[in-house]
Amino acid sequence: MRIWLSRPHMSGREKAYIDEAFACNFVAPVGPQLNAFEDAVADYLGGNVHCVALASGSAALHLALKLAGVTDGDEVWISSMTFAGGVFPVLYLGAKPVFFDLDPETWTVDVELIRNAFAVAAREGRLPKAIVPTDLYGQSVDLAPLEALAEDYGVKLVVDSAESLGAEYKDGRKCGTGGDIAILSFNGNKIITTSGGGMLVTRSAEIADRARFFATQARDPAPHYEHSAFGFNYRLSNVCAAIGLGQMEVLNDRVERRRKINRRYREALRHPGIRFMPEPDGYNSSFWLTAVSVDPDLCGITREAIRETLLEHDIEARPLWKPMHMQPLFAGSRYIGNMVDEDLFSTGLCLPSGSDMSETEQDEVVGRINALLAAA
Ligand SMILES: *Cc1c(COP(=O)(O)O)cnc(C)c1O
Repeated sequence: MRIWLSRPHMSGREKAYIDEAFACNFVAPVGPQLNAFEDAVADYLGGNVHCVALASGSAALHLALKLAGVTDGDEVWISSMTFAGGVFPVLYLGAKPVFFDLDPETWTVDVELIRNAFAVAAREGRLPKAIVPTDLYGQSVDLAPLEALAEDYGVKLVVDSAESLGAEYKDGRKCGTGGDIAILSFNGNKIITTSGGGMLVTRSAEIADRARFFATQARDPAPHYEHSAFGFNYRLSNVCAAIGLGQMEVLNDRVERRRKINRRYREALRHPGIRFMPEPDGYNSSFWLTAVSVDPDLCGITREAIRETLLEHDIEARPLWKPMHMQPLFAGSRYIGNMVDEDLFSTGLCLPSGSDMSETEQDEVVGRINALLAAA
């Protein structure tokens, strides 16, 4: 049996919710399950937010940036170490990404780099339209100073919380509630899934209304089809939302399980050359994926050697995201940083972290890695 990095983990209740959707024939992109799913996520996030369920996290980011006013030629400042779906929407709008490095102490975006870049950009009169910090591998960005900076410079803050549902920032706020708009993903490998899906989350009722408008083909109020703007077909299917209802019932269990997996890795892989993604004081990370960096000098072995050996034994582990400024697509784009992300990309490994992984399976992963380290 293959040991996966992170795969869908059903609660067993999803089919009952899908049956309800079929019973009322809402096999459509609207319906009672969709509304209930939005309510369940809003409740989980603390209540005072509006949730708009969408076809994917990328769709949510696309609409979030559009509603932040991003258009042709604008700059969007964004974490370089992220998944492509967290950057491509900048291109959908004809905007230009500027990529920022990570803070070596947190492995999330380096706030000081953004602070300094703001000072320079304000002097030169070319502020970005939005900044998009990415919660990485289930850990919040340092939200408060980013919110303060965005407010000081009158720039919209869109938080990419696609990987961090279930995690908390140090002030107790849940990931997915930060900034002007936050986005979530329910893709198959995320902490919970609707098979595919996403959510736009905002405290502004007006932004939520506009998101629903653009997500359903921008239909003006009229008995016929009337359009004064163009939109998208981005709503989540009601059937997929039904899956989400079953998943929301077990979200807390899933977070607990991933945190336990992370704790067991930390206890079992004690080696001066193995460094875990740090969890800053007061944060409550979900550890969607457990990420480590492998120092080849101290370990006597590279990350790739470990990854390849695991793969030979049918264990899926993956390098950290390849920073976007290193991607051929973004050759020549602006990068502000000290190559902390480049270094983590060359040494970093995401270990199998799925909430349905058994302790025996985790012990096998640990055993293989420790055998390699012992032999090195
Ligand atoms: C998964 C992910 C997305 C995109 O979500 P999809 O639902 O797959 O479109 C965006 N940003 C980050 C950081 C992600 O991990």
